[in-house]
Amino acid sequence: MLNPIEYLKGVGPMRADMLKKELEIFTFGDLLEHFPNRHIDKTKVNRIREITPQTDYIQVAGTLLGYDTVGTGRAKRLLAQLRDSTGILELAWFQGIHYVVKNLNIGSDYLVFGKTGFFNGKPQMVHPEIEPYARANADGKNFLEPVYPTTEKLKARGFNGRQLGKLTYALLSLVQPKDIPENIPEEVLRRLKLLGRYEAYRNIHFPASAALSEESMRRIKFEEFFIAQVRLNLVRLQRHKASRGVVFEKVGELFNTLYSKYLPFELTGAQKRVVKEIRADTGRGHQMNRLLQGDVGSGKTIVALLSMMLAADNGFQSCMMAPTEILAQQHYAGLSELLKEMPVEIALLTGSTKAKERRRILQGLMDDTIHFVVGTHAVIEDAVQFRNLGLVIVDEQHRFGVAQRARLWEKAAVPPHVLVMTATPIPRTLAMTAYGDLDYSIMDELPPGRQPITTVHRSETARANVMDFVRTEIDKGRQAYFIYPLIEESEKLSYEDLMQGYEQVKSFFPEPKFRISMVHGRQPAEQKETNMQRFVKGDTQIMVSTTVIEVGVNVPNASVMVIESAEKFGLSQLHQLRGRVGRGSEKSFCILLTGVKASKEARERIKIMCATNDGFRIAEKDLEIRGPGDIEGTRQSGALNFKIANIVNDRALLELARAEAERIVEEDVELSMAKNLQLKTYLQSQRRRNGWGKIS
Ligand code: ADP
Ligand code: MG
Repeated sequence: MLNPIEYLKGVGPMRADMLKKELEIFTFGDLLEHFPNRHIDKTKVNRIREITPQTDYIQVAGTLLGYDTVGTGRAKRLLAQLRDSTGILELAWFQGIHYVVKNLNIGSDYLVFGKTGFFNGKPQMVHPEIEPYARANADGKNFLEPVYPTTEKLKARGFNGRQLGKLTYALLSLVQPKDIPENIPEEVLRRLKLLGRYEAYRNIHFPASAALSEESMRRIKFEEFFIAQVRLNLVRLQRHKASRGVVFEKVGELFNTLYSKYLPFELTGAQKRVVKEIRADTGRGHQMNRLLQGDVGSGKTIVALLSMMLAADNGFQSCMMAPTEILAQQHYAGLSELLKEMPVEIALLTGSTKAKERRRILQGLMDDTIHFVVGTHAVIEDAVQFRNLGLVIVDEQHRFGVAQRARLWEKAAVPPHVLVMTATPIPRTLAMTAYGDLDYSIMDELPPGRQPITTVHRSETARANVMDFVRTEIDKGRQAYFIYPLIEESEKLSYEDLMQGYEQVKSFFPEPKFRISMVHGRQPAEQKETNMQRFVKGDTQIMVSTTVIEVGVNVPNASVMVIESAEKFGLSQLHQLRGRVGRGSEKSFCILLTGVKASKEARERIKIMCATNDGFRIAEKDLEIRGPGDIEGTRQSGALNFKIANIVNDRALLELARAEAERIVEEDVELSMAKNLQLKTYLQSQRRRNGWGKIS
């Protein structure tokens, strides 16, 4: 299976080159794993009259009436007309015209396959797969024919899905059971009624029946999930076993005093559970690597603080990283307030910390007179050294790269425990795949007494009413946010939008009765800070801002948020933004303003926002709408590179695979039992092939 693809009969150097460049097919095995998207019943030939705007891919046979090249330069295309007894279908090529023309004979019969559309009211097929009708029939494979994903470039060179099918067919005649060894334990196959690997690989290409095609799909999808899950769980459990970690042995004076004397509220059930999980994790002598997912406002900060107290009780320093200066500042202010009567030292270290203060902090961290440091990425600079770092907390993790986090581990001889907190809920299926090597906790409970935020959608034309509403809230003593989108392509445009918005808000809310803060990315940190602080203190009633405000900012008195051009925001971002209100005991509102021509997807997003406040539900929807590849922070994760499995559509299979993998790895983390031998051998062969790290 590792034979280079050019050794296959029918693949010359030219084709080999194309296969490598276009489809990353280098070996026999790669070709075998280039699975078809679906199958077409080759015995079924449709009539041209049957083509409607709803028709997708279709196969048609007819006589070539004529062809012509029209247009010049980039608009140059080849148009041909194919006729059957019911009508005429236009065929069009934009690339490889030269090559196609050579093989066209007016008056001959052809079988074409492709996606149809309508152009000027006439049915058209662009870049069809085409072959002489007689030859197509002579092949006589009158069963389900695979349709392979290919590229426009390959198609244009006449190397289409059908050609790929022929190569695969040839390859399969060489393949023997030993070439596709089983990699799922026998007992699992039996219990889940899964097809054997060899049989599945054959039948996914050229199934003997529709039922076998289905079963092969199911088996291979399961295999993809299962192998990924075994790998992730091995990493997770081997770290449990093998890693060294500092031991937080006892719950001491500091933790208990804070808990019983200075916490202004009772912890929620979810908070208690997570604190327990963290305690257990940090006491075992192995490094903790835990992802804490909690919806906005679920109270993650307190969990972080209690964990830091636990570290301090055991003589260790803690470090908390936030993605923005504002957020770091706010954490610092909030924690200092809670800690003011406690014998622990906390410091704030960001990019704008003055040199003298910075020297003091660096010294304090080195001689352990500073116990907690809160900061931005400034805390991972090399100059920052700790005497005794035991715990690292990363807040709103999706903004920190893996590499940045890794730098923190290097700051202690024994790696510190790591708690990653994210307020962007991730659907379970995605968490399982993208973060399956971490332990994770979910806080799915909000502190009591919160009133759900009412979210409404208004169009631009209702602006005056919206402003009136905001005014009544402000008159009641509340505060309001106006949020403008960041236009990614143009910072300048965003800025102009924001300025315009600011003027507009000002015209509705004139000084001196109303006072407005504005915060945006172009301001110097200091000015941002001042404007922010004025709003936090209630000196200003209105905050006009871009999405810099998104993360973590806490102003409980703010009860309205108006999101301008809401159609330009993604779902998780809207949810994050909305989380800035509804933090106090007052009823809060979120108003999504859109222009009139929002796209269908945008309208769908807005509908979901109006329907629910539940971050986990929103995340599920987001995943459904956008697909896994686009969810923030997961793109780079190789864990999502499945060939045919899909974590949204095949989630039931994923759950099954996860459960099986967990069970197997927990029972036999070395995979040394006889029943797991095939699996182990397979993983090792994969590792050799892909040069994976220390995963065994
Ligand atoms: P997030 O999870 O979004 O970071 P925070 O930690 O900022 O949430 O907490 C949101 C608000 O809820 C804060 O004002 C915090 O003081 C408050 N809070 C946290 N836990 C509780 C609790 N158990 N009971 C009441 N209020 C709480
Ligand atoms: Mg937070």
